[in-house]
This record gives sequence, structure tokens and C-alpha cells, in this order.
Amino acid sequence: MSGSALLVWLEYRPEEVKLNLRELKHYSRKGASGNRVNFFFCGACGSTICGTMEGRPSLFLTAGVFDETDWILPGVHLWKGSAQKWLQRSAGTLNVF
Ligand SMILES: [Zn+2]
Repeated sequence: MSGSALLVWLEYRPEEVKLNLRELKHYSRKGASGNRVNFFFCGACGSTICGTMEGRPSLFLTAGVFDETDWILPGVHLWKGSAQKWLQRSAGTLNVF
């Protein structure tokens, strides 16, 4: 649960990102897969900065942490089947899970 109808994550290897997770606020819950999903927030404003998933080495940065976002091209939609009806659904070349 992101608290929003749409959350854009960008997947990175941890060594690609200079970020100290210990400086961020943290929330963890069990995901649909049964693995833990961890959300990291700015302690000053509450903005979601990134996330991690148990069993997966990646660091997922939210699109909102980047100054420029025009280069972002979504490659995968997750949970599309339960998307809000008012959210225009993309079709075609995207992978759907
Ligand atoms: Zn902040």
C-alpha cells in the first residue's frame, strides 16, 4: 500500500546509489508475496524516498527524488488489475503482472 493510486519506482543496484538508509524513517510490512516490503521516508516532510523488498537486492527509488524526470520511461506496471478505474490504463508494450 503506497497511500496513492500510483507510485513510480526506479530499480537500482544498491551500489549505484549514495544513500544512507539509517538517516531515513522506516516502515515495514508483509507484501502480497509474503516477503517484507520496506519503505523509507524523509523524517522532515514524510516523502517516500525509496523501498526495498525482502529477497531482492535492489533499491527502489521513487520518481519524486529526481530533479528531472522527463527521461523516465516506465517498463513494467504492477497491480494493474486492481488499478483505480479512473486511472487511464496503458496497454501495448508494457509488461503486466
Ligand atoms: Zn523531506
